[in-house]
Amino acid sequence: MLLNEPHPLESRVLTRRYVYPQKDAIGIDQYVSQQGYDGIRKALEMTPEAIIDEVKKSSLRGRGGAGFPTGMKWSFVDRKSPKPKYIVVNADEGEPGTCKDRVIMEHEPHRLIEGCLIAGRSINSNRGWIYIRGEYRKYIDIMDRAIADAYARGFLGDNVLGSGWTFHLSTHTGAGSYECGEESALLESLEGKRGNPRLKPPFPATSGAFQCPTIVNNVETYSAVPDIILNGGDWYAGLGTPRNGGTRLVCLSGHLNRPGVYEVPLGMNMLTIINEIGGGVWKGRKLKAVIPGGSSSPILRAEECDIPADYDSLAKAGSMLGSGATVVLDETADIVKVLSRLMAFYAHESCGWCIPCREGTAWLKKILARLDEGVGTKNDIDMVDQLATSMFGRTFCALGDAAAMPAMSYVRKFRDEFEAKLNSTQVFVPAPQTQPLVVL
Ligand code: SF4
Repeated sequence: MLLNEPHPLESRVLTRRYVYPQKDAIGIDQYVSQQGYDGIRKALEMTPEAIIDEVKKSSLRGRGGAGFPTGMKWSFVDRKSPKPKYIVVNADEGEPGTCKDRVIMEHEPHRLIEGCLIAGRSINSNRGWIYIRGEYRKYIDIMDRAIADAYARGFLGDNVLGSGWTFHLSTHTGAGSYECGEESALLESLEGKRGNPRLKPPFPATSGAFQCPTIVNNVETYSAVPDIILNGGDWYAGLGTPRNGGTRLVCLSGHLNRPGVYEVPLGMNMLTIINEIGGGVWKGRKLKAVIPGGSSSPILRAEECDIPADYDSLAKAGSMLGSGATVVLDETADIVKVLSRLMAFYAHESCGWCIPCREGTAWLKKILARLDEGVGTKNDIDMVDQLATSMFGRTFCALGDAAAMPAMSYVRKFRDEFEAKLNSTQVFVPAPQTQPLVVL
């Protein structure tokens, strides 16, 4: 899915240099001619504290899923530590429905490089990596070419723009594991180990890559920074709502007339995004539900969607903005099948490190498959809810929660659909070995 034709309701900041259709990546000459790398030029004249203050003022929050305030995260790094400090870009983008980081890398790789430079400058770092999922071969090549061009023009290297400051950057290819989108598992993978998550704390700002202080942020987060430094944090904050600064890319998919990637100000009403920008539900059908922030976000019924699409409003509604992947389901969507497919995904991607997630996702997959096939029982519906509730908050990393949250919300909000799929003629007698493990 590519960035769509601009819509009048969009606010293009991150994507302002794109023309439609943007076929090739914006090269270094074009980027530089349109204020490209002016942000790092300005940052080189600022103190690290001033850079971080500007990012704090912007209310920029992590665009990968958690929505943690970016400036605050950067301020946790001890800039005076004798250890090397590192910048890591999470370009793993494995959340189902999410396809916006690749749009940035494909169209404007120098924006990401510049964001890394500014982040590096803010914590006295001399080294960064862009960790890209292996399936993104095309974007890895684009980033590698752009990095080579940036080195050739003096934006990267031992003496960035003659400032005497050194910053090196390279890509690192992942192997396509969803779990490696979790920052500590990503760091393990970056170090050449199996992508298992680490116990936290310590957090990466204290002990990240190679046990050194590290900032890990998502592609879109770093890419927002050049404009923040150029125009000021207050300007960026003013584009969104309080505590939810700026714009963000939304990946509209599902049963829509105009699916695609769009840039909207944070706080735009979700129904406006769906009906105006996305062109409304396809085939003249009614809206049934929306998955607002990637597959791990709790589902919203149609009547719950008249809310601002920002971090705080969605949290208040019991869901989350997550990765910005908004999946629209029309009135014909089979909710049981959707959840069954999702659990098959999570069971496959669970790394197996901790029991609640390893056993929980496997059992959810199994129970939901029989519910979807029409051979489940009422007891199975309750077991889905119980199992997910048992998992939530009790797993080693967030993947367990990512599986539990949709399971709980789908069953609770669409119980009638699960019951409609029951085969009432069948009496289900669970055999001892098929009893799911209920985690205490
Ligand atoms: Fe692995 Fe546990 Fe995380 Fe699941 S929750 S991915 S089993 S560490």
